[in-house]
Amino acid sequence: MQSTFSAECRQCPRLAGFLDEVRSRHPRYHARPVPAFGDAAPRLLIVGLAPGMHGANRTGRPFTGDFAGILLYRTLYKFGFASHEGSADPGDGLRLVDCRVTNAVKCLPPQNKPEPAEVRRCNGYLAAEIAAFMRTGGVALLALGAVAHRAVLMALGLRGADHAFGHGAIHTLPDDLTLYDSYHCSRYNTQTRRLTAGMFEQVFANIQADLATRSILQDRDSNQWR
Ligand code: SF4
Repeated sequence: MQSTFSAECRQCPRLAGFLDEVRSRHPRYHARPVPAFGDAAPRLLIVGLAPGMHGANRTGRPFTGDFAGILLYRTLYKFGFASHEGSADPGDGLRLVDCRVTNAVKCLPPQNKPEPAEVRRCNGYLAAEIAAFMRTGGVALLALGAVAHRAVLMALGLRGADHAFGHGAIHTLPDDLTLYDSYHCSRYNTQTRRLTAGMFEQVFANIQADLATRSILQDRDSNQWR
């Protein structure tokens, strides 16, 4: 079921209570549901797990101000999806090009681990985001990690058993959508080298090639009718 995102949402009692606690410890932190960020009509939608304590939960913008954002925005810049590579502050003027970033769960979970019921509850917001993305010509989804991957499938009403998560996997979905998988660009994954910059860049190279091919085909089709 799709729902319009609300920055005042408190549907998950555990997460709402945790955010109340975080706000009292850190009064300057955003510590509320974090909205999506980026191009309003992109062809690429990136879905992370949830806001990080001192990143999106602090700044109110996905992947902004913490370690995970460094590799993500650097890579987006390298592949032409961002106006610059820094992502330390929401006032940095960063603009995403043909790309939007969101999370499967919009509130900070304790230990970065949302419960399955919380992922399900927040899925209405993701479903609405993906529906809007498709309406405006979106074609490529990138899931950062297995939880985001399953949340995307749930939002589309698809079965996880038909599309197993794997780093580098590419899933052809109905309605001309393609789902790309990557390990999450978290500090843990990058410091243990489970995910290297090279591995992450290869995922973006695949997405870029897909989008370029689709542009060529679209141009060819429109020229045929001139
Ligand atoms: S995780 Fe999602 S559904 Fe749960 S309280 Fe936050 S915004 Fe609402």
